[in-house]
Amino acid sequence: MDSFDFMDFDSGSQNAEMHYQNGPYLPEASDCMRCGVCLNSCPTYQLTQDEQEGPRQRVQSLRQLIQHQETLDSQKVEHLQNCIQCRACEAVCPSQMAYADYFERAQQQLTERSFSTWGKWGLQLVARKKLRRILLPWMKVYQSTKWQSWLRKSGLFDGLGLARAENYLSEPESTYLHSEYTVQDAQGSVALFTGCLAEAFDRKTLEDAIKLINACGYNVIVSDSQQCCGAMHYHNGDVATAKDLMQQNIDAFARLPYEAVVYCATGCGSQLTEYSRLMPESEKAGDVVAKVMEVSRFLNQHWPDDLTPKAVNSEVWLHHPCSQRNVLKNQQDTLHLLQRIGGQRVQELPENHLCCGAGGSYMLTHPEQADALRDRKLAHLTDQPQAILLSANYGCALHLTKGKHSSPPKIMHPVSYLSQCLFSE
Ligand code: SF4
Ligand code: SF4
Repeated sequence: MDSFDFMDFDSGSQNAEMHYQNGPYLPEASDCMRCGVCLNSCPTYQLTQDEQEGPRQRVQSLRQLIQHQETLDSQKVEHLQNCIQCRACEAVCPSQMAYADYFERAQQQLTERSFSTWGKWGLQLVARKKLRRILLPWMKVYQSTKWQSWLRKSGLFDGLGLARAENYLSEPESTYLHSEYTVQDAQGSVALFTGCLAEAFDRKTLEDAIKLINACGYNVIVSDSQQCCGAMHYHNGDVATAKDLMQQNIDAFARLPYEAVVYCATGCGSQLTEYSRLMPESEKAGDVVAKVMEVSRFLNQHWPDDLTPKAVNSEVWLHHPCSQRNVLKNQQDTLHLLQRIGGQRVQELPENHLCCGAGGSYMLTHPEQADALRDRKLAHLTDQPQAILLSANYGCALHLTKGKHSSPPKIMHPVSYLSQCLFSE
């Protein structure tokens, strides 16, 4: 017999009615039918086959917290904290449960977060551009000298609980992007959203996106006033910092003369497109959201007829980040863009409905689960030596790169691959 306890539906209809009177109807947690459709898409359930690690039980715990104002025992809190917030359950739920919304409302009450003091410092670094700019050159010095291997061997990072985070660091770019990249007889201008870490750690993707947008006849503006999208802070319960960052972005982009705000990382995009919902108090949030666009969609809309890229690898594999599949739902744009490449075969990575384990900061806070999910994903490419795996989210690409694989795939953003096909000799 299923160990899951069936719950009553009484207070749910009352709450649903209250919600309806105050705005669009959102199903309440008590509207969960317990059909189990979500279990197949839930990565933590798939890993453990444990009902407590699945959406049905989490929805019930969220209901206890939000509707009944009850205190959860530590085990239930841990099961909630193990949630990757991938929103796969929300995407397939026939009741259209607003899982992310419940989780965000409950998160304010989940005081015991799994974030360490170092993790909180890391969030501060992500939020402060000036501080990052002071520290990044030192990080580059550290990585290009013997200091890195000495400190790694010393065990200091292990002792401080920083070994995993340090292992994820790649050598940062110490220069900044220009404020604009112009073309002759431009058809218009777009603003490029760079995010908090991409300018330093994923520069190639941004530079390739700029080259392709320029090739479509558009100028690219890089506002120095933009900040981190706020996703990391929001999902870790630091709503005040998240709102401050979101408002700075709204101010930065609202004053620019642009046709679109183009982003490359779908994790950032999923946050940017939700600014109206997350910042109802901001008058200009809607104006900015209306112009936010994923880079593939922009390129598809403006691609010149005489631009014909040629495949540099006859076959590539496409990974769907959860932010793209479950929130933005624009994975077809990426596929369509890649189909512009002559002679290109694009294969969907099997189990694309399951999260790779990156989950923003999840890969740092939940190493065991994150690694198990990543290795399960990469196992699909075991028989594919020299495979090229494309992912439209920097966090996923970073996590996938750290996988143990006898013949690791080359992982890159779809625009970098397209750029290589278009511009390489
Ligand atoms: S799919 Fe939706 S309604 Fe069905 S069990 Fe999951 S959360 Fe509940
Ligand atoms: S958000 Fe993802 S990990 Fe969390 S319950 Fe839903 S499917 Fe499972």
